[in-house]
Amino acid sequence: MPTAVFGDALYDPATAETVRDAVVIIDDGRVVAAGARSQVKPPADATRVDAEGLTLLPGLIDSHVHLCFQGRGLDLGESLATPPSLLTLFAVESCRNTLEAGFTTVRDAGGTPHGIRLAVDRGYFPGPRMRLAVTVLSQTGGHADQHFPCGVAVDFNPMPDVPPSVVDGVEPMRQRVREIIRSGADWIKLCTSGGVLSPGDSPHHATFTLDEIRAAVEEAATQGRKVMAHAQANQGIRNALQCGVSTVEHGIWIDDDVCEMFLDGDRALVPTLVAPQWVIRHAENGRMPKWAADKGRAVIADHEASIRRAIEAGVKVAFGSDSGVGPHGTQGEEFLLLHKLGMSPDNCLRSATTVAAEVIGAAGAGSLGEGSLGDLIGVPGDPLADLELVAKAANVHLVVKGGEVVKAR
Ligand SMILES: [Zn+2]
Repeated sequence: MPTAVFGDALYDPATAETVRDAVVIIDDGRVVAAGARSQVKPPADATRVDAEGLTLLPGLIDSHVHLCFQGRGLDLGESLATPPSLLTLFAVESCRNTLEAGFTTVRDAGGTPHGIRLAVDRGYFPGPRMRLAVTVLSQTGGHADQHFPCGVAVDFNPMPDVPPSVVDGVEPMRQRVREIIRSGADWIKLCTSGGVLSPGDSPHHATFTLDEIRAAVEEAATQGRKVMAHAQANQGIRNALQCGVSTVEHGIWIDDDVCEMFLDGDRALVPTLVAPQWVIRHAENGRMPKWAADKGRAVIADHEASIRRAIEAGVKVAFGSDSGVGPHGTQGEEFLLLHKLGMSPDNCLRSATTVAAEVIGAAGAGSLGEGSLGDLIGVPGDPLADLELVAKAANVHLVVKGGEVVKAR
């Protein structure tokens, strides 16, 4: 049976135009028509969804989450006491919170096995559509090497269908990329620099050789996959872009040269501005080791300057929050941070709809045009005039996924 959603208005991120007295008709999970009620007539047998008082827009897309990380800080004692099966099931709550914040599609940047997507697709629990990286790859001692100085390794997710994170050398890289694709990954995630939440490296240092990065990009491409790079160091970002990586995550030290490299290759930046904020908030609540909090504080100002520079230069920016560092369902705050650094409200909304859909390869998401996925949200007012409407889960009054209402209030 078709569904007809009646709202006060319909916002199209592609054109930044708003239509009043709108209706969206979804049948068999796809949008069949959307527009003003004077022009679009719902079929007589359609199920009515009343969204009076709400502006409808496409379901949002978060290009960088970790559904199996709880986002409540890094407590190593708790990590040691958490069996991998429970860690994996953290995704049940993350999926619901993500969906209820209006994010109907995500790209998971590592730590989430394919079974989570299969479970959501089979309706075991509600969740967003997913593109998955499954494993985070780094060199020995790099960002994904979770060996602590005591000698214990606390892996991101040691489930058997999450291939190991540490890899060194060109041929081992080729094999590991093949294993990750075999495990159900759509993206390959590399760390081409150090990071904040890893004990033994520095965000300033590049990791992996150019040959290793190239090998990953080549192997991924043979099977139609792209590569995303956790890249904070300037040299790490350069290496990634030079070797054909498609998206740069975090991007803490971006200069004018690097902006040119992004523009030349039509590559995208996923800033995750909210993640270092959460590292510091967790630290203030005693839920972050001192070494991680110190690293987080040290990068915030440079990170903001870099993202401001990239926005000004016109670098393609896809919305991503790194939720799993912070709590799932709070990622809308990223809109406010992007806006603060110079992104216009219409571009903020595009970054999480049309741009993200194209960047992560989520065909049919981020749009309510005919044939799009039937994913939409409703907020009480004009999100262009007030980004708080998409920044807080409580303001998202309606969420529809594939034509089914998954949140209504
Ligand atoms: Zn991440």
